[in-house]
Amino acid sequence: MAAAGGVRWRGRGCFGLGLALVALAAAAQAPLPPQATPADAFVGPPPLIPAGDPASSEFVGPVLVAPFTILDTQVLPGKRARLEWNAGMSFSGSEVISPVVVAHGVRPGPVLCLTAGIHGDELNSVEIVRRIVNGVEPADLGGTLIAVPVVNLFGFSRNSRYLPDRRDLNRYFPGTRHGSIASRIAYNFFIEVVQRCDALVDLHTGSFDRRNLPQVRADLSRPEVREFTRGFGATTVLHSAGSRGMLRNAAIQAGIPAVTFEVGGPGELEAEEIVHGEQAISTLMHKLGMTRHLPAWDEPQPIFYDSSWVRSDAGGLLLGRVRLGESVEPGQVLGIVIDPINNIERDLVSPVRGRVIGMARNQVVLPGFAVFHLGEETSEQQVVSDAQRGSRGVTDEDGGRDPVDPESLPLDDELDQD
Ligand SMILES: [Zn+2]
Repeated sequence: MAAAGGVRWRGRGCFGLGLALVALAAAAQAPLPPQATPADAFVGPPPLIPAGDPASSEFVGPVLVAPFTILDTQVLPGKRARLEWNAGMSFSGSEVISPVVVAHGVRPGPVLCLTAGIHGDELNSVEIVRRIVNGVEPADLGGTLIAVPVVNLFGFSRNSRYLPDRRDLNRYFPGTRHGSIASRIAYNFFIEVVQRCDALVDLHTGSFDRRNLPQVRADLSRPEVREFTRGFGATTVLHSAGSRGMLRNAAIQAGIPAVTFEVGGPGELEAEEIVHGEQAISTLMHKLGMTRHLPAWDEPQPIFYDSSWVRSDAGGLLLGRVRLGESVEPGQVLGIVIDPINNIERDLVSPVRGRVIGMARNQVVLPGFAVFHLGEETSEQQVVSDAQRGSRGVTDEDGGRDPVDPESLPLDDELDQD
């Protein structure tokens, strides 16, 4: 259906975003007459809409949208601009400039931010964001899309997850002006870009030679975040409270609903996963009223999972016997760990009926290595009630661990790889 032309936004309004999602989802099932929109969903900042009230029955003219200002640049309605964010903190004396692409629509709507490449080797995320922002048509867009395909250009240029000092940028948000280099970069990005967003999707892949089925990770104990997760179509949704310093956690603290979108593994471009990510984000934009086009899904609803990891108790060579996304049964052999010195094979067995939502690539593993991430399908209500009881949700393998900086080392049960 056509996006609701009269949606107005609160600016920094997670509440408004949630209401708009609910309103738009409801409208998709039972289209409302053009002017008969719920009044409480349409509260907007006066500067965005100088004259006329699209929600009133008297309103007849086009809605005027003001230019959007970011990074000291004005972007006119209906235009796309490629701006530059200077991460500063050069290691070599030269400036480090990351592109920030802004598509500013002609209709009122949310400012949606897409960030990728905070871990410099997570290439699927970079390509998804590039495709999305090139694919939108600003002359037919509601709201504003801010896309940053490569936040950590330092890491990207070296095909590394980390900053050059081996710090993990995604443990330093919102950063501080006078902190470590990671903290300064995070601070600068947060002030210059993130604070302009009404909602944020931070795209990642698995880390350390693990791959993830496309999945949204979000703090489902927060209603405004929960609403946001419903926008991604037929995508796995996992509760994850996240860790200190993650971009999504810092954004939420600043009143900006934010989630992580994980897709595939690091270090390569995976065509199917990229298409899924593109489709999920396109669906989100449609649900937010930004675009008119809704991608076709076989099953349009999000799928909620409880999840747990199967770890190897022995070291050796891992050889997987299941594929990502495969359904598994209790007792099914998921893979074997081979000790070639003593000529021993050990089975890794599924304890549950579920689906492989993440798994390690074949590699050398140490005892305790998290190999298979299994999801057990459950209801949204169950996941939410677990989240509200204080479950941290997806804890992870050793993915979130920053190997050198004690300041960022999470407790063992807080590990998470976003
Ligand atoms: Zn990542």
